Amino acid sequence: MNVPIVRTVAQLHATVAQWRREGASVAVVPTMGALHEGHLSLVRAALEGADRVIVTLFVNPKQFNSAADLAAYPRTEEEDAAKLAPLGAHLLYAPNATEMYPNGFATTVTVSGVSEGLCGAFRPGHFDGVATVVAKLFLQTGADLAFFGEKDFQQLHVVRRMARDLDIPISITGCPTVREADGLALSSRNVRLTRAERRAAPKLASILFEAARQLSEGASVSQIISEARAAILAADYAQVEYLELRAEETLEPLQALDRPARLLVAAWIGETRLIDNVKIPQQRTKGVLQTAAMATG
Ligand code: AMP
Repeated sequence: MNVPIVRTVAQLHATVAQWRREGASVAVVPTMGALHEGHLSLVRAALEGADRVIVTLFVNPKQFNSAADLAAYPRTEEEDAAKLAPLGAHLLYAPNATEMYPNGFATTVTVSGVSEGLCGAFRPGHFDGVATVVAKLFLQTGADLAFFGEKDFQQLHVVRRMARDLDIPISITGCPTVREADGLALSSRNVRLTRAERRAAPKLASILFEAARQLSEGASVSQIISEARAAILAADYAQVEYLELRAEETLEPLQALDRPARLLVAAWIGETRLIDNVKIPQQRTKGVLQTAAMATG
């Protein structure tokens, strides 16, 4: 069975209204298409959590801060629909830019705090674009549940903050990053890597995991970060935009591992910018917390 595709807000409302009359709960999985296993893992989680699942496919011009990046973004709607059908997703919502932003559109949703620093510092306007389109998708679908990947960890924080601040009644679940067998986080941008870049790319994840392990064992944060940064550059990455330890719950910058934390990175390999993050192993963190508490108590 094919997944039905709707392209207008009116068609979307009519479908969801019918589901609501049937008493069904509704989940939404926002995507920009070029679907891979990472996206599909979100769809599977959504299907477990709700009676009906809407996957949205919209390459949102407002969240691209480079025209070249927007133009080069892969667009594979037919293949995407074919990947969704066997999972049992109920609807693909694929509006065009005019449907999403009709003439005269003049509203921007800005989330301060969590959208600053990290990707926010290097992609001006990106999180305004994300928050604006995701607010619209939440309101257009009226979904009860939404599913996002931890791969875009700062985005997950921005979206949670936005929904809370705007009183949008939706429960947001973050799902673990899906990786290739060699550790590279799945990303729609991976198709842009040359063969040589693709071979070197997984070192980003292995360096990140090793740094996280060392941090969990109590190594100095500044030392581990500077060593990891050097290792990324030695692994054929051209530039490290950021490599930072941040609090898991608030995204605050951390100089010491005194609470649950995550190591986040953005780096360029050739012409492609990749991001990744790993959680500092929890058991070890607890050990460190206990040690820290004993030392101060
Ligand atoms: P995108 O199409 O890149 O905007 O991503 C749509 C959703 O899929 C976002 O919530 C992403 O965080 C999520 N996602 C992208 N890559 C992965 C991955 N490798 N594992 C899990 N979720 C992912």
